[in-house]
Amino acid sequence: MRSNLFSRKLAFIVTVTYFAAGFLWITLSDLVVATLHLPETQRTLVEILKGDLFIALSSVAVYFLVHRLTRISNESSVQKHLAREDPLTHLLNRSGWIEASIAALQQQVRGEATIVLIDVSQLRYINGAFGTAAGDFVLRYLADHIRHHLGPHDILGRDDASRFVLFLPGNPGHAIERLFEDLAQVSQHPVHLGLHRFRFSFAMGISQSPRDATSIAELLTRAAIALDQAKVSPDRHLAYYDQTDAKNTLAALRLETDLGLALERHEFIMHFQPILSLPGLRILSVEGLVRWQHPTLGLIPPDIFIQTAERIGLIHELGHFVLAESIRNLMRLPIPGTVRPSLAINLSALQFAHRDLLQSIHDTLEETGFPPERLSIEITESTFMNDPEQGRKILKRFRDMGISTALDDFGTGYSSLAYLQELPVQTLKIDRSLIKPLPIQEPSRRIVRALIDLAHSLELRVIAEGIERREELEHLENAGCDAVQGFLFSRPLPASSLSEWILNQAGNPEGSA
Ligand code: C2E
Ligand code: CA
Ligand code: CA
Repeated sequence: MRSNLFSRKLAFIVTVTYFAAGFLWITLSDLVVATLHLPETQRTLVEILKGDLFIALSSVAVYFLVHRLTRISNESSVQKHLAREDPLTHLLNRSGWIEASIAALQQQVRGEATIVLIDVSQLRYINGAFGTAAGDFVLRYLADHIRHHLGPHDILGRDDASRFVLFLPGNPGHAIERLFEDLAQVSQHPVHLGLHRFRFSFAMGISQSPRDATSIAELLTRAAIALDQAKVSPDRHLAYYDQTDAKNTLAALRLETDLGLALERHEFIMHFQPILSLPGLRILSVEGLVRWQHPTLGLIPPDIFIQTAERIGLIHELGHFVLAESIRNLMRLPIPGTVRPSLAINLSALQFAHRDLLQSIHDTLEETGFPPERLSIEITESTFMNDPEQGRKILKRFRDMGISTALDDFGTGYSSLAYLQELPVQTLKIDRSLIKPLPIQEPSRRIVRALIDLAHSLELRVIAEGIERREELEHLENAGCDAVQGFLFSRPLPASSLSEWILNQAGNPEGSA
């Protein structure tokens, strides 16, 4: 609007100047020629030359004027372009996308349109672990993939650091599904960048006009709520905005805020579950399992908040607390000096990949004087998926520090026997899903026995997890399992109850089961 007004004013000034200069030139030069009293033929010649000179001068003036004006207009359009473009992906930036989408929404018959937010879930982690060049690479890689799906009237932009935003005319459910499936495929393969190999995952939140809202601003808010929902969904990370779900999300967001404050409010506590020798059922170690004592909701189990703690960047501080607090508790247990259980703690993939992990563990051990030989770190196979080579290096560093490591939850997910051979771990923890069918299924008995034999041939110690029944224990003992853990012996206990349990058990080892 403003530039329109500006160019009209400019055109008016140029025209008036040209008219005035032409008028003055003709009038003044005619007057000068008249005063010279030249003969008819010479006067005609002078008038022709005068006209030619005027045309030549005004042509030069027009050339410079047009040249300068187009330069100004080019510069301002480049500036305008830069203000609307994301320099990394060359997509529209947030304000450019909003401007274009508002215009496009106004043109839709019946106002039907779909907004899709696509979030790269671990961008912060990728930037932290592999450098920002890796994060940039993932964003460009993903932008190129999404571009392939665009129709002529679709508008793609980069909404913020880790998010893309897509405007689609109408309600193209199939196109969204295809895009989701394609990105899901792409995200299954690790990205190779230099020496690094890593994976990314993504989530999609969708809102629709006019069903959910009719303005771009509100549609964006609704899509962001759907995105939060998509992130917490256990299988497919895709969600359409749903008003009833939105209420749950708000509750989840409140929980997220509470979680951010839980550490400084001292609301995390440690419980410990004994791990017992087989045969003999003597206590060997305890697994530290964190809980959140919420002021109104009560005791919240780790499965509910570990992922959120990762998302809000609390997991490293929490991990530090878990180790330090567990050691403090163990060292203060009022138990005979002859019973000195080791400590096992869990690390999530994000904790494992953190640059300061080894230093932080080393510092805690030094500050507390807890011997590294009494510490075991439990990790799952998925921890290595991003970067197996780096994972192996960290495991070796643990071994050099005197800390042992265990592969947790074996038998769930991707468990592969080939892996066992390659990983420098000392212990294998067989998951409850393999233990549960032992009393009723002969094939599962054969599998567990073979697994224990294989682990032993690789010089690994085997702990069976989640033992609830005596029959399960008997089968494991027959199969040569080294240690057991489960509700049959003890649930995870606060430190005070743990010492009682240990004192009881010391007098009566076989009787605890
Ligand atoms: P996990 O490492 O597999 O821990 C064992 C889980 O199995 C514990 O659940 C424990 O209470 C449960 N369990 C033990 N015996 C039995 C049994 O006989 N039957 C059944 N059904 N379950 C049994 P919990 O404490 O809820 O922990 C769940 C998961 O949360 C843990 O699985 C671990 O992956 C994670 N976690 C716990 N504490 C921490 C922590 O400090 N840091 C991290 N990163 N993750 C943690
Ligand atoms: Ca564990
Ligand atoms: Ca486990």
